[in-house]
Formats: sequence, structure tokens, C-alpha cells
Amino acid sequence: MSELRKFLTQSELKVFRRWGVPVRYIYGKQRRRIFERDKNKCRRCGNSDLRSLTVAHIIPYHDGVMKRGYTPDYLNRDANLVVACRKDCNKLAAKRI
Ligand SMILES: [Zn+2]
Repeated sequence: MSELRKFLTQSELKVFRRWGVPVRYIYGKQRRRIFERDKNKCRRCGNSDLRSLTVAHIIPYHDGVMKRGYTPDYLNRDANLVVACRKDCNKLAAKRI
């Protein structure tokens, strides 16, 4: 738990306490960089409706930390991030991209 507190923001820690899974939201410069690189489109289906798009991890963050033993830094590399639809494509990013 104290390990997790080091790299989770307040809102991420809330999710962890509530659901028991670490999550990582991508903010600011990195978020803008990923959107620019992927041309503001979902990498899986090509959807360009910005309101439904988010930045998703290819190797899911919670899986990576909890099951595969990757560090947060490794999972938050640009190479592990893609623009994807908030709902459907987000969950499938790991398998399809
Ligand atoms: Zn999509």
C-alpha cells in the first residue's frame, strides 16, 4: 500500500481503495503528446469524436503492476499508450494493437 501511494495521485488512490486495482490516468503534456501522435483518433477503430476518446495502456496498468511486475514508469512510456475509445476499444487495446 505504501508502495502504491508513492505513484498514485489522490484520485487514483481513491479508485484503488474502492476497487482494489491500481489505475493510472494520463494527464497534461503526455496526454497531448499521445493524442497528437495518434492524430486524435482511436488507434483501433479510427473514431475521432474527442469526447469519447481517452489515453489507454496497451499492457493494462493494473495487470502490469499486479500480475506482471512491471514498474509504473515502464507502463507509462509513450510506447505503451494509445488513443482509444473510452468504452469499448479501451478494454481491447491490449489484445488488438
Ligand atoms: Zn475505438
